[in-house]
Amino acid sequence: MPARGMLAHMQTVTMIARRALDAVLPPTCAKCRVVVERNGTVCADCWKDLRFLAPPWCHSCGFPFEFEGAETVSQGRGNADAPLCADCLHKPKSFDRARAALGYDDASRALILAFKHADRTETAMTLANWMALAGGDLLAAADVVVPVPLHWRRLFLRRYNQSALLAQKLAQSRGIAFHALVLERRRATRPQGHLSGTARHRNVAGAFRVRPSQRGQIEGRRVLLVDDVYTTGATIAACVASLRAGGAAAVDVLTLARVLRT
Ligand SMILES: [Zn+2]
Ligand SMILES: [Zn+2]
Repeated sequence: MPARGMLAHMQTVTMIARRALDAVLPPTCAKCRVVVERNGTVCADCWKDLRFLAPPWCHSCGFPFEFEGAETVSQGRGNADAPLCADCLHKPKSFDRARAALGYDDASRALILAFKHADRTETAMTLANWMALAGGDLLAAADVVVPVPLHWRRLFLRRYNQSALLAQKLAQSRGIAFHALVLERRRATRPQGHLSGTARHRNVAGAFRVRPSQRGQIEGRRVLLVDDVYTTGATIAACVASLRAGGAAAVDVLTLARVLRT
């Protein structure tokens, strides 16, 4: 059997084996692996630990006002239809609007880790549905959905880019164009976990660009940039700058989770 035929054959065998396993094994919680009713969902205990974000929130960054305290809302910062949080008033953001489905905390961190490091592609549909709830307006306005890319070396280690998977499910669910290759990570950046905000911005500045062959996909269009977590916003800001330089008319950002600072 030629090598390619053999590979296809092995893939088919693996797929059939996988389906057979899925049929025998009960579906488990995407986070803690207790048995649940349907694949790709979380159990009731994990569900109640998650912090789902909802309006009223900052028109720019999606920061929930309930979290910041009633004071901000009553002060009516920004205009009444598009209130802004204190952070966005002081430092206007480079994106048009950002929304997230969950607050980033121990519960969502564990869920994202489970999603990242295991074969949990079936979870992507559930998570994308949560994101669609938070980012309905953004999806309705989007012309094209683009994920934050991983460097190929990290992609190779992880086997898939979870942001691309989420972006693809979101685009599919609304019939929006999805282009995974628009942004290119030109160099592997250091892991950002232990860096301060300023160091993070320095770490990722110039790390991304729009592939010249892909410019046509975003020129003059409203782009929805998708990532798993919004932390300091350094990675997002670097991607937004690249997309604008590449000709995007507007850039909104939708993430699964975001850090909530008080
Ligand atoms: Zn669970
Ligand atoms: Zn804000």
